[in-house]
Amino acid sequence: MRMRDVGSDLADTLFSSLREASLDPPGVTRASYGAGERAAHAILCAAAQRLNLEISVDPIGTLFMTLPGADRGAPPVLIGSHLDAVPHGGNFDGAAGVVMGLALIARLLAEGRRLRRDLVIIGIRAEEMIWFPMLYLGSRAAFGLLPKDAPDRLLRSDSGRSLACHMAEQGFDPDFIRAGRRSLTPDQIHCFIEPHIEQGPVLVAQHIPVAVVTGIRGSIRYRACQATGEWGHAGAVPRRSRRDAVLAVAALAHALEDFWDCCEAAGRDLVLTMGECFTDPLLQGITKIPGAVRFSLDIRSEDPAVLAEAETLLGYQARLIAAARGVQIDYGPVLPVSPAPMDGRLRATLRKGAAKVGIAFQEMASGAGHDALTFAGLGIPTAMLFIRNTGGSHNPAEAMAMEDFTAALEVLLAAIEEIAA
Ligand SMILES: [Zn+2]
Repeated sequence: MRMRDVGSDLADTLFSSLREASLDPPGVTRASYGAGERAAHAILCAAAQRLNLEISVDPIGTLFMTLPGADRGAPPVLIGSHLDAVPHGGNFDGAAGVVMGLALIARLLAEGRRLRRDLVIIGIRAEEMIWFPMLYLGSRAAFGLLPKDAPDRLLRSDSGRSLACHMAEQGFDPDFIRAGRRSLTPDQIHCFIEPHIEQGPVLVAQHIPVAVVTGIRGSIRYRACQATGEWGHAGAVPRRSRRDAVLAVAALAHALEDFWDCCEAAGRDLVLTMGECFTDPLLQGITKIPGAVRFSLDIRSEDPAVLAEAETLLGYQARLIAAARGVQIDYGPVLPVSPAPMDGRLRATLRKGAAKVGIAFQEMASGAGHDALTFAGLGIPTAMLFIRNTGGSHNPAEAMAMEDFTAALEVLLAAIEEIAA
């Protein structure tokens, strides 16, 4: 067991306050531009005041908490994450990254260490897409990347009211987005580091507390795929005359899994999911050959070449299935997101930091998207540290041990001087 320290003690207190302020059994709720998110910002802001940090909030509510460095003219190091959370979610998704930044500063101050660059801890708004249908809303808004009609077009899922309405209610200014303004400029940021809980089971299974993220997987997503065959009598139609949409989609699923096997054997990153697959219960019955199936596809990889091959495979399978089975497959519109590789030099520095303090780590891809993708997409050197987490994420069972948080903090402490050099 590791000795406790001022950073971990601060973090422990902050996590308790956050849980208490946004408790919504089972779990916590911190709606984007809602009460729970506001409470979280207030708690972090008060902690930053106690640490005597410089505090500012931009017109859309992004929180900046700055520890001045020796060279105030040098572009700063940014560390942070988002402070909203899904309904009845866990306490650590997002918050752990911002709390980690303040814990890091508490340790630096206690140890009398001064960095060359300013260290800015950033509390980002509105990352969880469950509230507003826009990827990385808060970080993209801070960089002026949102469509100008976003405040009026985006409606929050629980209230049905617009982003503009919710922003104004929290004292922020939707005109900032409407005018395409920004509070963050890529070339004025030295680098961005987002510590985050791991949202899958990899670190738990490997008995490892921390991971250095290699990159965030890109994706091709098809929400509305349709296979169209022909309805028929289950007993009366011989096999050669059938155009069975369910068997066609099953054949497609097998082909995709074969592709996954090949990628895995070659050590190429891939995950794919047919999250929805159904016949229409009003039209379909046990004695009917299925004439139509609706399904979805979510295909992710760190490697753009794998995504391109998957897309080619989908086209090829559609032609093959049409010829062999008389079933037309239409994938509908695709939503592509490019993979975001993490910065090689920052990754090396974090690996070196972990080795220096003797903390076991591994390298892994992030399957989930994060604000880090916004920063990396703008060419800002970006890294992520994952902290082991049991119980999965986006649910109340999410659980991060403070020992693991401390392990990640030690890695960051060991690397921060080089990062801020
Ligand atoms: Zn998150």
